[in-house]
Amino acid sequence: MLHLNEEEKKYLLDSIRSIKDFPKPGIVFKDITTLLNNAKAFGFLMNHLEQRYKSFDLDFIVGIESRGFIFGAALATRLKIGFVPIRKPKKLPYITISQKYSLEYGVDEVQMHVDAFANKSGAKVLLIDDLIATGGTAKASIELIKQTNANCVEACFLINLKDLGGDKEISKLTNIYNVLEI
Ligand code: AMP
Repeated sequence: MLHLNEEEKKYLLDSIRSIKDFPKPGIVFKDITTLLNNAKAFGFLMNHLEQRYKSFDLDFIVGIESRGFIFGAALATRLKIGFVPIRKPKKLPYITISQKYSLEYGVDEVQMHVDAFANKSGAKVLLIDDLIATGGTAKASIELIKQTNANCVEACFLINLKDLGGDKEISKLTNIYNVLEI
């Protein structure tokens, strides 16, 4: 399966900015806006994802709010398939299904429209987000996709913060592809 070589990974990684102590002390926020406004880097990433996924015979790309929408929608148009958003509660206007998940303090929830996969039974879908940290959001998203009987064939992240171990949790549920690991 298609992966980037070390030089290509470094090129993409160098296009992503790190912001210390955002949104709170102790967090190093990976700012992908510097990749997005760099047409060469964004195009390189999208070419790579298109090459990797064009043979997967996918039915839909599912993106996690909000940066997963950017990469997911761009990839969906390249693959000529539909895009489905997973959102935080009370954002989607039609009938939704929900999946709750635990945070360090409290719970959060992700939602998707009940007819997101246009009632296609066993739809083959790819889940995508910009970054995996603890994996909580992605795990709940995979469970949400499973509620519809769709088949999440892979979860793709631009960046895996590997010390947090979220990738190990996700690989118990589906294949995982991390473009970059730090
Ligand atoms: P988690 O559920 O812990 O895997 O968190 C993943 C979600 O939080 C993704 O949607 C990311 O966009 C966002 N996120 C978590 N940590 C960071 C970080 N250090 N930099 C940028 N985004 C982050």
